[in-house]
Amino acid sequence: MENQEKVIQIAGSITVDELAEALGLSVTTLIGELFKEGIVATINQRLDFDTASIIIDELGIKNVRLMRKNTSTQTQDVRRELSDKAVSRPPVVAVMGHVDHGKTTLLDTLLHKKTVEDEAGGITQHISAYQLEHDGRKITFLDTPGHEAFAAIRQHGAMLTDIVVIVVAADDGVKPQTVEAIKFAQSANAKIIVAINKIDREGADIPRTMADLAQNGLQPEEWGGDVTMVPISAKQGDNLDKLLDMILLTADLEELKADVNIPAEGLVIESHMEVGKGSVVNLLVTGGELKVGEFIVAGNSYAKVRTMLDFRGKPKGKAGPSTPVTITGFKELPNFGDQFIEVPDEKTARKQALLNAQGIADASASANVTSSDLLRMMNVADNSKMFNVIIKGDVLGSVTSVVDSLKMIDTKGEVTLNIVATGVGDVTENDVYMAVGDNTVIYGFNVNVPTNIAKMAARDGVSVRNYKVIYELLDDAKHSMEELLDAEVVEEEVGEMKIKGVFRTERTAIIAGGEILRGRVGAGALGKVYRDKKELGEVEVESVQKEKIDAKELVEGETGGIAFKTEKKLVMEVGDRVKFFTREMKKKTL
Ligand code: GDP
Repeated sequence: MENQEKVIQIAGSITVDELAEALGLSVTTLIGELFKEGIVATINQRLDFDTASIIIDELGIKNVRLMRKNTSTQTQDVRRELSDKAVSRPPVVAVMGHVDHGKTTLLDTLLHKKTVEDEAGGITQHISAYQLEHDGRKITFLDTPGHEAFAAIRQHGAMLTDIVVIVVAADDGVKPQTVEAIKFAQSANAKIIVAINKIDREGADIPRTMADLAQNGLQPEEWGGDVTMVPISAKQGDNLDKLLDMILLTADLEELKADVNIPAEGLVIESHMEVGKGSVVNLLVTGGELKVGEFIVAGNSYAKVRTMLDFRGKPKGKAGPSTPVTITGFKELPNFGDQFIEVPDEKTARKQALLNAQGIADASASANVTSSDLLRMMNVADNSKMFNVIIKGDVLGSVTSVVDSLKMIDTKGEVTLNIVATGVGDVTENDVYMAVGDNTVIYGFNVNVPTNIAKMAARDGVSVRNYKVIYELLDDAKHSMEELLDAEVVEEEVGEMKIKGVFRTERTAIIAGGEILRGRVGAGALGKVYRDKKELGEVEVESVQKEKIDAKELVEGETGGIAFKTEKKLVMEVGDRVKFFTREMKKKTL
């Protein structure tokens, strides 16, 4: 506990100016921090509660606590009031910890040990949530986004979770991401259980790890504290039953409950598009019961639940509280963290989605930034397909025509043009400030870039590009957007060989002879080996021999020997064909 904790009350939202004052920071410092998070803010901009708390977190300010001031317009909290008919529900558990400490291994081992794998051959795909049974009771596990993901995502992640299992490797101790996870779980009011992992390792030191944890505010029960710590080996599966016992015990103390006789509600935990299925959305039901055929709204999208599957991919007719399901039927992809709610019919669904969309649009019109905007920005920033620009022009007309022309560049949906700001006049200090740290390019059209501003931009790594001819400016923008495109793999076939003899097969090498049916082959070429129509694997040509003498290449009609390299063992047979090709990474163009 900090001694001088300061409480800032927020009723709905707070302006940048007010927040800066409350934090004792200069407005420019705060605006600078917001820019780093991808938020272009002005002094009067309003930030909502979640965004403000994320920023405070990112700034590393510890002695400040935000509180929601009660107002009638207060945003709805995810956790609702329960009726006296509420029934108990399975705990929702997230696993967190430092990278390589064993989170994935723990989730995998639990999944495979404790769930019955079905005829379909078990689960090989990545799943964002699953449920297992222990002692005849269910526990829901969530795969939380990586630590590199922004705090906001985890902030949402933990709003879903009752219990956070913090994994700490006994041979490595508490590390920065462990500390982050602890803070995060605490801020989210989740119960913490520590899994001291890798106890099978030689360097494992349980007492030292406990001491480490104690120093970071988690006092082990063994030492009179209140945090359960379970030594485990996620890899060997040791003591996992004990861990699950502890999870259930903790859940019992929490008396986790939910109402079932209410319209279904919950949260979006993953969403993506799939060929043939359209939108595929993973939901965690938190209240009510969701059934196939029902209508739900999430953000500005809605769905008639077309199909519903459990985490194993088996059809599920209805899903109650704490159940993760995968559904299809959403018209548009909802966002991670969006709340969903069941509505009576399609008409209501459409109307509600539209209202939500307007709400979102209104919010952006009044320049409010919500945490879901922030999440969206982070998601976009993640795949870096956003081209951020600030445009300055000599007169309003030129600014408008630059903006209009930029919007006309066809990016084939692969790059999003984000016009951060526009303005008339020379490039200013403020423009550079806005561009810092976000790969934002400042385009000047018929304006000046004062020397001190150019210097400042150079120092801060901001690119200022000044043009007098619009086509040159547009060309530059187009090339910059092309730079953002992922490279494409291009394969070109160069020849084919029929294998007539296999002389040696080793683990990663094959020596074989044959005839070139067409094209040519030389050292360095890649090949795909086919038996009839089936592709057996890939090979690389190490050297080529013609009449037992090293040769540069073999061409159509010639017979010779080839030494192949393989990645893993591959058995070639007489009659197989090898199709040779070159493979290049090519930059895509717009
Ligand atoms: P994550 O980054 O936290 O998800 O960590 P992983 O689950 O990927 O584990 C990192 C490495 O530690 C992998 O090579 C695992 O096989 C290994 N590992 C995880 N748990 C254990 C354990 O209990 N014992 C041992 N010896 N190795 C483990």
